[in-house]
Amino acid sequence: MRMPLIAGNWKMNGSLELVEQFGRAFAETGLPTSVEVALIPPTPYLAAMQSALAGTAVALGAQTLNPETKGAHTGEVSAEMLNEFDVRYVLVGHSERRSMYHEDDAAVLARAKAALASGLVPVLCVGETLEQREAGQTEAVVLGQVEAVFNALDAEQRTRMVIAYEPVWAIGTGRTASPSQAQAVHAAIRARLGEYDSELAARLRLLYGGSMKADNAAELLAESDIDGGLIGGASLKTNDFLAICQSAG
Ligand code: PEP
Repeated sequence: MRMPLIAGNWKMNGSLELVEQFGRAFAETGLPTSVEVALIPPTPYLAAMQSALAGTAVALGAQTLNPETKGAHTGEVSAEMLNEFDVRYVLVGHSERRSMYHEDDAAVLARAKAALASGLVPVLCVGETLEQREAGQTEAVVLGQVEAVFNALDAEQRTRMVIAYEPVWAIGTGRTASPSQAQAVHAAIRARLGEYDSELAARLRLLYGGSMKADNAAELLAESDIDGGLIGGASLKTNDFLAICQSAG
């Protein structure tokens, strides 16, 4: 019922050459039809990535957006601008945006709403720090981040969201949540979604992110509430990323 989504977040990495490499790799390698794949390059590469992926089934994503529609916001990008490049997904609430660029729950909500208003699919990233996990606060933190957005959306808007659980201590550290640790948090998120609507809980995709790689993807994706992955470092090499896509099929 839930088609797995594997999304590669390049962060501030890559080059035009890498965009071309990925275009060639996806043109040459068939993807399992049972998996949806998205690439999320830095904003300046959106146009090149759009051309490189033309004719493939790979969707385009963006790493951030500004909630305003236009105006004096130097360095920012609007939802409508992303739409001009056929962007489908946009990350909101990534832990790097929360911690380095001070995007709090209100800022994350504003971005999710702007994305939804323009027909983009927000990928809401949530996750606890190591300190919070060790203090037994994982569920409270993660569900609080989910509720900060979901409580303010209407029933129809909630159906157009994707959630990515990304424990902050696992992002870019090589330290992955064990399948059972990840599954426990995903199950808690799904149970919370069920309090809004049981159909919503059954349909919404919950991705895992945090040092997911070709050699640990299959066991994470085998968990019943893990519906795909948000991949950072391992999305920068065609072979690694393709292997993760295959293991979701
Ligand atoms: C991310 O930044 O979303 C991420 C999951 O990174 P990595 O896979 O490198 O941990």
